[in-house]
Amino acid sequence: MTPTRIIDKLRTAHSRHAVGDARSIIRHLATVATAALLGAATLGAQAIGPSPAGGPSRPLYLVHANVVDGVTATVIRDATIVIEGSRITRIAAGLATPRGSGVQVIDLAGRWVAPGLIDAHTHIATLPNARRALFSGVTTVRSASVPAFQDVAMRAQARAGQIVAPDVLATGVFVTPSLGETVLADPRLGALAGGVTTTDHLRALVRINLDRGVDWIKTRGTERAGLPDTDPRKQVYDEAELRAIVEEAATKGVPVMAHAHGDEGAYAAVAAGVKSIEHGTYLSDSTLRLMRQKGTWFVPTLSTVVDLTQPGGDYDDPVLTLRGQHMLPRLEDAIRRAHALGVRIAAGADTDYGAEGTTRIAHEVMRFRALGLSPAEALATATSGAAELLGIASRTGRLAVGMEADLIVLEANPLEDPMALQDVLVVITDGRVVLNRTPFGRQGAR
Ligand SMILES: [Zn+2]
Repeated sequence: MTPTRIIDKLRTAHSRHAVGDARSIIRHLATVATAALLGAATLGAQAIGPSPAGGPSRPLYLVHANVVDGVTATVIRDATIVIEGSRITRIAAGLATPRGSGVQVIDLAGRWVAPGLIDAHTHIATLPNARRALFSGVTTVRSASVPAFQDVAMRAQARAGQIVAPDVLATGVFVTPSLGETVLADPRLGALAGGVTTTDHLRALVRINLDRGVDWIKTRGTERAGLPDTDPRKQVYDEAELRAIVEEAATKGVPVMAHAHGDEGAYAAVAAGVKSIEHGTYLSDSTLRLMRQKGTWFVPTLSTVVDLTQPGGDYDDPVLTLRGQHMLPRLEDAIRRAHALGVRIAAGADTDYGAEGTTRIAHEVMRFRALGLSPAEALATATSGAAELLGIASRTGRLAVGMEADLIVLEANPLEDPMALQDVLVVITDGRVVLNRTPFGRQGAR
């Protein structure tokens, strides 16, 4: 970003916050400065524009890497990772690097390699936000609804290598009582402009999503937390309605994720057969036991509740600050109990990765550790475990031969220092190096 651009952005920021909120201007300044730095670093190090799918034409050797696989607590030290096309074809210590022009080499000089992160709950609807997610180390996301099927297009274009974005599992539009502006996302949604309140409406909305090619359906058991005038404990759909959604989605083999803070709405969703409960602030032991029994996953999106309690970020409202202070200890308690009862947990940052956002998947992993998950368990919530929830564990989420080459490079061992996940140095997705901030080592052809 040029200095003029930065000044322009600051002017915009200033007029936008003309009510005199100095704090948000300073926050904006920091964001712009970081964006400028990141831009400079990435442009200096590596071309990051769209490139054809299928990875580099020459094999890529990552040498002198310490490897964490995303499943276990074991570490392979001083290893070489070989990437051919979009796949990992070898991981071994003491592997000789072939000489000659046919090979690309990045010397990681003892840095750490982990699987690309998976964010199981996002709302990415723009290209800058998709790029920001990818550069934060997130190589796969599950969308948790967007206003107008942007996730469906993003999935196709990311997989074709046409845009810089994580791989996407699309959810389309939210199956919720009031669609609002979302009716404009598809001509057929006009029939639901008056509300999505009967099982016929629900089935119709699910079918439109399925017709647009979604991988998941997102619905809700309860009201939102992130609006001042809603009560997140209030149930929205009952078990019969939620069952209609699950059944309709199942006609195309598509699973359902349910937003639910309050326990009654969450219990109804679990009983109806949803695959994951999102948020889950007020989950009781009986709901958690039913989740364990039915194999329902828990995606707590804890960092977003932390965001509610803090100034700035995606949420900045005094009512929400107070609500977040009430919710946070309850959600932390639900996570501790879920883990003790053996409920599977996956990480979701619940952000759109907007320029103002400060919530990242790394925070989710760090906080899970503080709540009793082992280092390997916590990392798996954003790697192999999340891949299992998303039904993509056979191709990504762990570092092993034959898997997609989705990986990140970190300054330190994320099993010892999870904060390292917050400062990703290199991002490789499907064998393509999309970010390289490494200030060390030789790279390029030999
Ligand atoms: Zn969400």
